Amino acid sequence: MVKGKRNSLNTTAADNNRSLMFGAIDNDRIIFEEEEMPRGLREPFIKSGYRRANSTPWQCLKSLFYINNESFNVWSHIIAALYFAVRYGMAVSNQMDSILDPFNLPLLASAMGTVILYSSSATAHLFNSISERGYKICFFFDYSAVSFYTFTSCQAMFFYARPVNSHWRIFESPALYLSLAALFSFLVTYGCCKTDAAVNKFSTFLRMLSAIAAWIHSTLPILVGMTLCTCHAANKRCLSFSTCSSLPVSYFLRHAFYTFLAGFMYSTRLPERLISGKFDLVGNSHHFLHVCVAVGTEYAFKMVEFEINARKANKLLQETTNYVSILNTLVAAILVMFLNAGIAFWFSMALKKKESVHKN
Ligand SMILES: [Zn+2]
Repeated sequence: MVKGKRNSLNTTAADNNRSLMFGAIDNDRIIFEEEEMPRGLREPFIKSGYRRANSTPWQCLKSLFYINNESFNVWSHIIAALYFAVRYGMAVSNQMDSILDPFNLPLLASAMGTVILYSSSATAHLFNSISERGYKICFFFDYSAVSFYTFTSCQAMFFYARPVNSHWRIFESPALYLSLAALFSFLVTYGCCKTDAAVNKFSTFLRMLSAIAAWIHSTLPILVGMTLCTCHAANKRCLSFSTCSSLPVSYFLRHAFYTFLAGFMYSTRLPERLISGKFDLVGNSHHFLHVCVAVGTEYAFKMVEFEINARKANKLLQETTNYVSILNTLVAAILVMFLNAGIAFWFSMALKKKESVHKN
């Protein structure tokens, strides 16, 4: 999951030189203090528990097995990636006899988005001490994985949870809904990389704004179904199974609560802002962000699972698979994944270019 900009924390060049010398003298040390780290590898309000600056990939990998200030971030999302791989695997195998049955395709795309999100996040946190530029590049790709996940969760929501007979054009046209979802996902990646590359006062705000727009779009099928449609509609009103029970409503509210809590902790940097240095290893805002996002994903999954079961129970498989094709599920997802990764790659190249201009 994404990190914010490093703050300046009154660092001086002398500090950096001293810290690098300190680290170089003591080769056996694995944990460093804030003042020993170069500015670009410091976390706001985090005082200790840093890994060696400019670690090699092997040193980063070894950091999996000792406690440092990235341990919680790495392990929380390794566990989440494994959990969702199993969860989706079980769900897909329970649905249809053939894994590539059209009914399964949106679920497979969503599984891909979720597992890639958590594994990219764990990888970014694991290797971010490689260099100051490497740190930024790690999180450019992390942002692109978040955007890719948003797109694939839009696919699951559209195909399994959109209201039937809503007469909303957006719910009758997968091309329209998914094109908008792709556009939002590119905007989120672009916005996050852009604000990270050029800091300004509104960087967090802009990042949040594009993420909120993408989130509203991804939950639109459920939101509209819950508020405007009825359960088992016999007349011309739209039909949404999320109105049939209080369960999906509670899943949605919990999903929304954890998503906004994650955003709140991320943007306020609480609690470490209040007592800096006390939450270095566990309990800081980024740890809350990781846990809240994983719990929010679980509730989104439960919503989709409820809708799938309701459609199967009401024999609406045909209605669901009418619009499904390999093109608008797996192929579209892979395309969006590469385009998002392309945006991250472009920003990474621009960063390299900018650094070489500065050196010259
Ligand atoms: Zn993160």
